[in-house]
Amino acid sequence: MAEHEHVRVAVIGSGFGGLGAAVRLRREGITDFVVLERAEDVGGTWRDNSYPGCACDVPSHLYSFSFAPNPEWPRTFSGQRHIRAYLEHVTDVFGLRPQIRFGAEVKLLSWDRENLRWHIETTRGALTADVVVSATGPLSDPKVPDIPGLDSFPGKVFHSARWDHDYDLRGKRVAMVGTGASAIQIVPAIQSQVGRLTLFQRTPPWVMPRVDRAISPAERWLHRALPLTTQLRRGLLWGIRELQVQAFTKRPDELGLVEQLAKRNIARAVKDPALRARLTPDYRIGCKRILLSNTYYPALARPNVDVVASGLSEVRGSTLVAADGTEAEVDAIVFGTGFHVTDMPIAERVVGAEGITLAESWKGGMQALRGATAAGFPNFMTVIGPNTGLGNSSMILMIESQLNYMADYLRQLDVLGGRTALDARPGAVAAWNHKVQERMKRTVWNTGGCTSWYLDASGRNTTVWPGTTTEFRRATRQVDLGEYEVIRGAGTRQAPKSPDDAEASRTDEVAA
Ligand SMILES: Cc1cc2nc3c(=O)[nH]c(=O)nc-3n(C[C@H](O)[C@H](O)[C@H](O)COP(=O)(O)OP(=O)(O)OC[C@H]3O[C@@H](n4cnc5c(N)ncnc54)[C@H](O)[C@@H]3O)c2cc1C
Repeated sequence: MAEHEHVRVAVIGSGFGGLGAAVRLRREGITDFVVLERAEDVGGTWRDNSYPGCACDVPSHLYSFSFAPNPEWPRTFSGQRHIRAYLEHVTDVFGLRPQIRFGAEVKLLSWDRENLRWHIETTRGALTADVVVSATGPLSDPKVPDIPGLDSFPGKVFHSARWDHDYDLRGKRVAMVGTGASAIQIVPAIQSQVGRLTLFQRTPPWVMPRVDRAISPAERWLHRALPLTTQLRRGLLWGIRELQVQAFTKRPDELGLVEQLAKRNIARAVKDPALRARLTPDYRIGCKRILLSNTYYPALARPNVDVVASGLSEVRGSTLVAADGTEAEVDAIVFGTGFHVTDMPIAERVVGAEGITLAESWKGGMQALRGATAAGFPNFMTVIGPNTGLGNSSMILMIESQLNYMADYLRQLDVLGGRTALDARPGAVAAWNHKVQERMKRTVWNTGGCTSWYLDASGRNTTVWPGTTTEFRRATRQVDLGEYEVIRGAGTRQAPKSPDDAEASRTDEVAA
């Protein structure tokens, strides 16, 4: 990176979020930007997760950019290879590679109060930017639990998101730790190869049938010849999920019916009543992410699989010990134990206007205005920030809404002119968060009787959006300047009437 390089916008990450941001910036006529990516290629989630069986669990025609429809999706739920290829294709079609700095891990971001810009230190050198758009991903940094004795395990250990393809699992005694979205795809994909598979299940997931099939050449031809049909398909997929949201957010009791279907799904594949009991959750369906698979339960019913209904608590040499005392000797451990979600690693590296890190400012739990901006961190926005996750639909819908917000944010800065920054008012952030948390109280995620990765250490749900994607789209269409403090060059803040007054609109001052 050139010394003293300065850009208008620095985007961090080149997954769906970062690539989407880059295309959106271009569409806004902004070319003075860079994308900083720690890895050597684009793709984010879909580059890092290459485990056997990896695929999306939202249909591909919805789990893709609205501005880059893909008539060629091979399956209703396409595999990792195809999703990764799609993201590479988007990168090339929009000619984004020259603006992506690969191998550039962002180590530190600090706000320069004098010059109203971010200083960015990366593993490839330093630069400055007026605005930083952080798209480092909610499921990007693997989490491996701190298990006593793990360090001395003599066999192979890896996380689902860092699959070791050089390690041959054939005939091995393998432990799968965790029963989340990745684990339920891995188990059926490796069960027939391994000698013995021991699943350490702290909590069973609810698993529904997966309506997965190949998309026929005729359908693909139709989508190519008549692009409107791709849009119709996407619209239908979106509409169905949009209607389902009410049950998750307002009427969790209605999910009881879905629970019956899920129980039938277990009964169909698992004849052993003891195993069936171990696999049947005791919390409301939807409380944890509903998983989709036609092959998970049949794989667990195979004779070379043991389901330990308890979490892994200790490793003694090559023996794994569960919390309930069950022991299993294994050659390899695969952790499907998720990611650092509520403790977003980038937050440790962002130092704001008051000299504290974003992680420190989020000590009581992550919160951001409209899922994007935090008080004391001017001109810094997060894509898939706090409370923007979805329980049942495509994250791309949320990403695109946040990119609308980003585009308007930059437009507002232009309108304000000169060297200007926007800092979310603490009161506005608090008001937004209060509204979100109030709505959260009725949702299945908070009332369903489970603990999940949606909740932070104090039990607060700081990850999921408690509404429809339409509501979020509306909430992020435009930046409300009343929710921001305008900072002018040389660090002078245009004095707000009351920094905590969320209602006080600054639009009048701005216009003047
Ligand atoms: C296995 C799996 C399956 C999933 N399936 C679905 C699905 O079906 N539907 C759905 O809606 N969602 C799904 N998700 C969620 C998925 O994470 C999001 O849909 C989406 O891919 C997130 O995109 P992103 O760009 O925000 O983050 P990522 O794709 O995680 O990209 C983040 C990028 O930032 C880079 N980065 C991180 N930190 C730094 C740093 N300090 N400096 C520089 N670069 C950095 C990373 O290397 C990465 O390339 C799935 C997630 C996983 C793990």
